[in-house]
Amino acid sequence: MDKRTGEFWFVVGSQTLYGPQVLETVERRAREMAEDLSRTLPWPLACKAVVKSGMEIAGVIREANYDGRCLGIVAWCHTFSPSKMWLSGLAQLQKPYCHLATQYHREIPNEEIDMDFMNLNQAAHGDREHGFIAARLRLPRKVIAGHWQDEAVRRRLAEWMRTAAGAAVSRDMKVMRFGDNMRDVAVTEGDKVAVQAQLGWQVNTWATGDLVREMAAVTEAETDGLMEAYRAGYDIATDNMDAIRYQAREEIAIRRMLDREGCLAFTNTFQDLYGMEQLPGLATQHLMSLGYGYGGEGDWKTAAMTAVLKAMGENGNGASAFMEDYTYHLEEGREYSLGAHMLEVCPSLAAGRPRIETHPLHIGMNEKDPARLVFEGRAGKAIVVSLVDMGGRLRLICQDIEAVKPILPMPNLPVARVMWRAEPDLTTGLECWITAGGAHHTVLSYDVTAGMMRDWCTMTGVEFVHIHHDTSVESLERELFLSDLAWKLR
Ligand code: MN
Repeated sequence: MDKRTGEFWFVVGSQTLYGPQVLETVERRAREMAEDLSRTLPWPLACKAVVKSGMEIAGVIREANYDGRCLGIVAWCHTFSPSKMWLSGLAQLQKPYCHLATQYHREIPNEEIDMDFMNLNQAAHGDREHGFIAARLRLPRKVIAGHWQDEAVRRRLAEWMRTAAGAAVSRDMKVMRFGDNMRDVAVTEGDKVAVQAQLGWQVNTWATGDLVREMAAVTEAETDGLMEAYRAGYDIATDNMDAIRYQAREEIAIRRMLDREGCLAFTNTFQDLYGMEQLPGLATQHLMSLGYGYGGEGDWKTAAMTAVLKAMGENGNGASAFMEDYTYHLEEGREYSLGAHMLEVCPSLAAGRPRIETHPLHIGMNEKDPARLVFEGRAGKAIVVSLVDMGGRLRLICQDIEAVKPILPMPNLPVARVMWRAEPDLTTGLECWITAGGAHHTVLSYDVTAGMMRDWCTMTGVEFVHIHHDTSVESLERELFLSDLAWKLR
């Protein structure tokens, strides 16, 4: 199911104590607020119910659990809504939950305010009662406080919605693996059964030979069609048209297999290309630009995370990409990390129009020079995230970075490249990253924020480690030590 066609439910808590007139007003305002919010949010906020009893609450939460269109619940208490009524409903909740602590009016009306006004507009204590029961139940949730018309509130609600959509994408995630992980590598490994139970990811393997057979069935006309798309999006900076056509055939065949199996992400490895002339480069890059996730060397965790972050971005396919830390520039005062991959960097990061080039790839089983997109990543604030299996739990490490225009042209580097400064500074950030066990493979994103990744971890039950401008190695070591103890007790 396309998460872009989903919706969120607005559930407003109240009770029968105040009489029908107050409840009518609450209902009318709830509808007005939901309609108005829906105009600026990325998904509709459907006004589902003003709930007044335990049965109504449990009913709407059960319905939300079953309804595939419902991506999450936004709750608010216009009046006081005694929270023991919410107990059995919230105990069954399986969807992302946001408590919007707001009120209908912006200002206290000096002349108008009387006890009728107070009875109708008492979110200030209704929302506290509601907050207590969620805390008491240890309910994973997001709390957003502020006036519902404020831009900051709407932006945060929009980000939470994108994150909830990311959790839904995760729940349905299927990853296609061509071959296994690169031999002997540890960080790309993980417990697939535990991950499927926790996140929903179905990670399975297909033979490279299956892909080779699929490629043989691709027609010249189909290849011509994709060549047109390449010409429209990229500059062709090679005479080796055969190499580009070969990548087009690889792309069509991979996509056909992914779509047939309902997979949103895939992996392969340069150590297993039997029957293929080129490691898919341009093919993988173009597939990523369409929203598919990818991880190199059999890295299924990063492949799935790439697809999840893309889905959380603008219009369900944002500026997020599989990335790898390659080498550093350690000139004093100008310290940067250079990220790239052998071939497979998504052009959604590109500062300009990518070029298609062909070069030898002196690694793995390539018989011919693979075609790939070459470009510079754009400048701007971004994050890199890495999901690692700590044995018994998953840890997501998220680092704030500042991408820059690469300070060197690097004319002989035949791959797409991004250059950045990690927070709090390159070397401290590096020490923190290594201390936390972050991988060399990451997802780099310009439009998913660290706050969204924190919320995603809350929704999915993953440990969240954030390296930012205030992080020190000492504070991080202490956080990791305490966190390790806490996670072992859970
Ligand atoms: Mn790699």
